[in-house]
Amino acid sequence: MDDDTARRVLGISPHATREQARAAYKRRAKMIHPDRHANTSNAARHEAERAMAELNEAWRALRSGTSTPGDTVRQAANRERSTEDHVAARHDRARRPRDRECEICGYTPAVWIDIRALTGLIILHSSDRYAATLCKNCGTAIWRDVQARTLTLGWWGIPALFVNLAVLVNNRGYGASLRELAPPTARVADSPAPMSEPMSVTKPVTARVLPWLATISVVAIIVLVAIAAVRVRG
Ligand SMILES: [Zn+2]
Repeated sequence: MDDDTARRVLGISPHATREQARAAYKRRAKMIHPDRHANTSNAARHEAERAMAELNEAWRALRSGTSTPGDTVRQAANRERSTEDHVAARHDRARRPRDRECEICGYTPAVWIDIRALTGLIILHSSDRYAATLCKNCGTAIWRDVQARTLTLGWWGIPALFVNLAVLVNNRGYGASLRELAPPTARVADSPAPMSEPMSVTKPVTARVLPWLATISVVAIIVLVAIAAVRVRG
């Protein structure tokens, strides 16, 4: 795959650095990963596998093409990179209007979402960010997975408990904008989006077992601890 095609597949500008290419690759890979399509149709899964293979190829092409051995070259590249990062960050903010097409399937209308999946690890927590312009189908599929994961894994830690509430509230806000969004109607011609069709609709969060089980368990634990604390005092 040549560099121009690879950049198009990753959705980055010709001036993007290796780090930006890597970030774009990781961002897209976690959204279209075939695992996300495990419960959908065969056609959708094959399409995700094809898109994922293309993405991997694009990253491989750019990764080998942009590596520059030699310290002087690298230093110069680093200096250039920091300026480019600023320019790219400004550029990213500037081109985030609401009428851009879905980054996964290329359909419109699409809306910007910025949601997180939290995993509580007793005293630590880790969060995985999903920030992208998505159509109703792709956005809802990802939103439901992220929210279900957060409701299942986000509670397990003392600080995580509080962070999780904030994360869930933040995610809910973007869930509302996805619900208000009209269904995807047409693909923008020449869109570089990796998939050719919007993602399939998945199970609603409230119809999944694990989020309920985890949330109810955590509420029960909090209630038991509170009762125990009151008894000790009384
Ligand atoms: Zn889409």
